[in-house]
Amino acid sequence: MTVFRLRPHHGLCLLHFVGKGYSRPFSANMLQIAACLQKEPNTSIELCAGADCLCAYCPHRKGHICESEKPERYDHAVLQCSGLQIHRKLVWKDFRERMAALSRRNLRTICGDCEWYLLCAAIEIN
Ligand code: SF4
Repeated sequence: MTVFRLRPHHGLCLLHFVGKGYSRPFSANMLQIAACLQKEPNTSIELCAGADCLCAYCPHRKGHICESEKPERYDHAVLQCSGLQIHRKLVWKDFRERMAALSRRNLRTICGDCEWYLLCAAIEIN
């Protein structure tokens, strides 16, 4: 069974994704992954540190490292607010539910200084 490695705050990014991103390849990759998870909500997720498959076309990625300090900070905030830990495994639909609750309660606290924040904050997550 495939286990999908995901850095914690990308659970929020996937929920709020509306097709906008750094570049066309970045957005196409994100869209494909979001569609796969929506189609297969029982996909196993393992929370990871550092770059994951959503980072593949990100301009800030340098190998397995992100040159921006924000993603690590957002990951840490998601873990703190959700009670989850790195290496925790769970299925996408459960992770999605936790991220939806975080989005309603804590989005500004977690990632309020992200360049996409205003776009994400305007989306109502059910
Ligand atoms: S504001 Fe940024 S970090 Fe937060 S969910 Fe949106 S894209 Fe992801």
